[in-house]
Amino acid sequence: ETGLSSDPPMSWRNPALDEITLISCSDAHSPENLGREANAFNTDLSYQAIIEAIKLKDPEKFLYTIEFYPQEGKYHYDGHRNCGISLSPKETKKYNGICPVCGRLLTIGVLNRVEELADREEGFVPENAISYKSLILLREIIAEALGVESATKGVQKEYKNLIENFDSEFNVLLKASRGDLEKITFPEIAEGILRAREGKLFIEPGYDGVYGKIRIFSKGEQRKLSRQETLF
Ligand SMILES: [Zn+2]
Repeated sequence: ETGLSSDPPMSWRNPALDEITLISCSDAHSPENLGREANAFNTDLSYQAIIEAIKLKDPEKFLYTIEFYPQEGKYHYDGHRNCGISLSPKETKKYNGICPVCGRLLTIGVLNRVEELADREEGFVPENAISYKSLILLREIIAEALGVESATKGVQKEYKNLIENFDSEFNVLLKASRGDLEKITFPEIAEGILRAREGKLFIEPGYDGVYGKIRIFSKGEQRKLSRQETLF
């Protein structure tokens, strides 16, 4: 189980894991987060069929996993929160693990440990790997497209509207076409859903206790969107 703080490409860098079938399970701490990680099967809906697909690592039956962006975690990169320093593992190496601002040891993140255990370069895909899709929660896409916080009424209203029309959040995030989305919702939200699906994102990895940020729209676009907020 790859957990929220890692995804398949991080595990693929270690050949010792090639024989293992990686699965992705959602935590159930809060109902609205159910399904933020998941496994997509094409089998009968039975324990036997599902366990068989996992054991055999059969790509016809175990189609893909759904992943949360591990960069959103608080300890993905290395760094120092108080010094405002965030570094990739390669940069940390360049600084010998020492913070260039305060001269103390850097707080090391998850990716650095992956780098340490890796025998393969970043981006390596093993032959028998099950593929994956990285998703952003629909309410976060709506919030960013509307230029508001995700726990607001406007977001809830659009969320409900989309789910009622497409039956599930997965259908909205993974399947609905631009044309169909635009018939139901605002063009900015449709654009956000498409960009999230294609992975066209601005990613700032978390470090030393600071949550990472994933943005769909550039800062310039965000300013325009928040000016339109009164229209929604
Ligand atoms: Zn420092």
